[in-house]
Amino acid sequence: MVHVWKGASVTRLMPTEESVDLMAMVEDFASRELASRASDDEASATFPRDALAALGRLGILGLPFDAAYGGGEQPYEVTLQVLEEIARAWLSVGISVSVHYLSCFALANFGTEEQRERWLADMIAGDLLGAYCLSESHSGSDAAALSTRAVLDGDHYRVSGTKAWITHGGRADFYSAMVRTSDDGARGITCLLVDGGSKGLSSATPEHKMGANASPTAQVIFDDVRVPVDRVMGSVGGGFTVALAALDAGRLGIAACGVGLAQAALDAATAYAIERKQFGRSIAEFQGVSFLLADMATAVNAARALYLDAARLKDAGLPFGSMAAMAKLAATDAAMKVTTDAVQILGGAGYTQDFPAERYFREAKVLQIVEGTNQIQRMVIGRALAQPRTGS
Ligand SMILES: Cc1cc2nc3c(=O)[nH]c(=O)nc-3n(C[C@H](O)[C@H](O)[C@H](O)COP(=O)(O)OP(=O)(O)OC[C@H]3O[C@@H](n4cnc5c(N)ncnc54)[C@H](O)[C@@H]3O)c2cc1C
Repeated sequence: MVHVWKGASVTRLMPTEESVDLMAMVEDFASRELASRASDDEASATFPRDALAALGRLGILGLPFDAAYGGGEQPYEVTLQVLEEIARAWLSVGISVSVHYLSCFALANFGTEEQRERWLADMIAGDLLGAYCLSESHSGSDAAALSTRAVLDGDHYRVSGTKAWITHGGRADFYSAMVRTSDDGARGITCLLVDGGSKGLSSATPEHKMGANASPTAQVIFDDVRVPVDRVMGSVGGGFTVALAALDAGRLGIAACGVGLAQAALDAATAYAIERKQFGRSIAEFQGVSFLLADMATAVNAARALYLDAARLKDAGLPFGSMAAMAKLAATDAAMKVTTDAVQILGGAGYTQDFPAERYFREAKVLQIVEGTNQIQRMVIGRALAQPRTGS
């Protein structure tokens, strides 16, 4: 049975009536509480912790996780469409929600039953916010070269080193941190769940970025931080596997954010093109403009179809990593192209801060870089093509 949700921008086929109600609730919240303040908070680089707390109270921060721990137990197909609606209203908040899911992934998927019972319910209940710590200043794309060191000392690890580019750095309540427990390359990495209030944990001044400045990005410094051994997620030495599995799912979140941002730019450009008159006609009537809009709409819808296809593979328990990389690549390239063309359609107005098109354009760029640059996505896709067929 098909359940139709007609949103302000998009008509969607949802799997359940419950998910239709969820989409309506999220669209309403996003337009009232997020879109209305995005420009001002981006200009002042204000982190909207209150808006994230409100999303937490609505159950959004626990949406894809097991009901047994208080999660919403929604399929990824639904979770990502919720994320898209949030990002359409305000990309920084969409990124925050996506990063929160990423930071809970290790415990939810690799933690023991006992660990999940102890910590997961609090992490997804809505009051707490997580961060995911993989990158370091010398190890970005080559993430396995990380050097933050964890040395076993009785029933604790003592962790020292600096993580770079961490979304929610200094603001998170907990960190899923990949650290080096031996010199055995990728097999010497372990994932630790670190309490944000740990002694010796601090953060640098947030980076001054091209866009998405309401989303804080900062170095996180571990100075002899003591982390109990029962906070190892998965096995000692298995942390890189945890990190890559988390990124497979996380890339779908970034794809959904890219589609949301691109949809916002398409909506803004379309409305402007209908309204704006030149040569005595609406500029939308000029083929040069309407073909641009047609290509933008096609790119947005193609990217949405791709992330939904990948999400449905994941929901069915099938391999989806290569498809997730394709969705991230296509959606974020589409976001860059569509936001660039939106500025063009607004002409001079598009280059000013009186309209959101220039902000969308600046925000799109980061999506081609985070959670593996789009060059790295092509490597993931190319490697999968060269493997015997696995179904992904
Ligand atoms: C705003 C923001 C938020 C972020 N949030 C987080 C976070 O929460 N947690 C986290 O762990 N990290 C985070 N990151 C880090 C992000 O994942 C890295 O920036 C990204 O992986 C690229 O690493 P790098 O910046 O060191 O670039 P580099 O790896 O130095 O790459 C530089 C260039 O070389 C290219 N390149 C590198 N290797 C290859 C190759 N083998 N083949 C072809 N091209 C290649 C890259 O594509 C890129 O164009 C964030 C980054 C930003 C900008």
